Amino acid sequence: MEKIVTRHMFQANTQNNFIGYLKDNGYQAARKALTQMTPVGVIDEIKRSNLRGLGGAGFGAGMKWSFIPQNNLKPKYLVVNGDEGEPGTFKDKYILEQDPHAVLEGIIITCYAVGSHKAYIYIRGEYTKSLHSMQNAVAEATKAGFLGHDIMGTGYDIDVVVHPGAGAYICGEETALLESLEGKKGFPRLKPPFPAVEGLFGCPTVINNVETISCVPAIINKGAEWYAKLGSEKNGGNRLFCVSGHVVNPGVYELAHGVTLREIIYDHAGGLPHGRKLKAVIPGGISAPVLTPDQIDVKMDFDSLKAIGSMAGSGGIIVMDDTTDMVWAAMIAARFFAHESCGQCTPCREGSGWVYRIIKRIYQGGAREHDLLNLPGIVNNIGGNTICAFGDAISMSVGSYVTKFRSEFEAKIKR
Ligand code: SF4
Repeated sequence: MEKIVTRHMFQANTQNNFIGYLKDNGYQAARKALTQMTPVGVIDEIKRSNLRGLGGAGFGAGMKWSFIPQNNLKPKYLVVNGDEGEPGTFKDKYILEQDPHAVLEGIIITCYAVGSHKAYIYIRGEYTKSLHSMQNAVAEATKAGFLGHDIMGTGYDIDVVVHPGAGAYICGEETALLESLEGKKGFPRLKPPFPAVEGLFGCPTVINNVETISCVPAIINKGAEWYAKLGSEKNGGNRLFCVSGHVVNPGVYELAHGVTLREIIYDHAGGLPHGRKLKAVIPGGISAPVLTPDQIDVKMDFDSLKAIGSMAGSGGIIVMDDTTDMVWAAMIAARFFAHESCGQCTPCREGSGWVYRIIKRIYQGGAREHDLLNLPGIVNNIGGNTICAFGDAISMSVGSYVTKFRSEFEAKIKR
């Protein structure tokens, strides 16, 4: 299978990757876009490629770019989201560390498409190696004339700022990220207005994940049809799947969107160790509803996973074998949500802690039957009643453990 995002990764000479990147047609897609295509033409190409936002939401990248209004005089910004805080997800770090020039070339093309001259790369605070790699790459690209003033002699200017976050999960939510970039607390904003209209510093802003942006040069080089054909219907290309938990070969796998969860677990990640049986699997980061073994023939694209009540999310697959205590797993998820709630909305702030305390009581002993009876109502009243999708994530994720593994919760209470 043809590799796109990982084609330069995991090679021995990664410290030399600017030279390697240039030798492998590097920055030619940016040159092509800026000299042979119109901004509208670039957006159309990305739309036809079916490139989806690979950070979690899965929104069409080209469609998102087309929302940037071109009829006002405000500056336009591109923000690349490298916050990657979703548990089970560890793909963007490899792109940032090992192929930073693919990110920068994607930035150049995206900026040109939306009329932006300034891009920010927001990198998770703990990712110091990613931060240094991107800072070095920006310096190299600027020195070589691919960034800065009059890039590649085209008359177009692009300034790139690499910005470290401080480690809060919620700053991966796009509007919280904007607040953080502006130097404020990472509180998600009420939408509308959407960032495309009123984003960073009140100006039109496109926000895309690192992996999404790094796919852009290949699409411009090889064409939208080529990219669209690699994936499944309406889900173009490949994506990086991060596989962790009870598998023989955990790691990052670049695979086409049409691959099934069964193929990822058993053919690529080597199956479960010691011949154990599969009990449950989270398909797209901890926010995604958990799946049971009878659901793993699902295609791993955004639409197929949504159709069975889960989500492709960030591509973080967490595999659990038949020794896993699902009440414990639910408690870990609930503890994470309670810890990371930003506290703006009462249902999320109070509900996440309440849910965690109930599940902890069920796990540790001392819970009564009404605890389990109350749980679905509490969980369901968080989702849909909050400023950002974090509240929905609590409902969907924790709710799925209670629904699908209810007998384990009941057994703990009885015991
Ligand atoms: Fe903050 Fe939770 Fe409200 Fe999102 S849903 S804004 S994380 S309190």
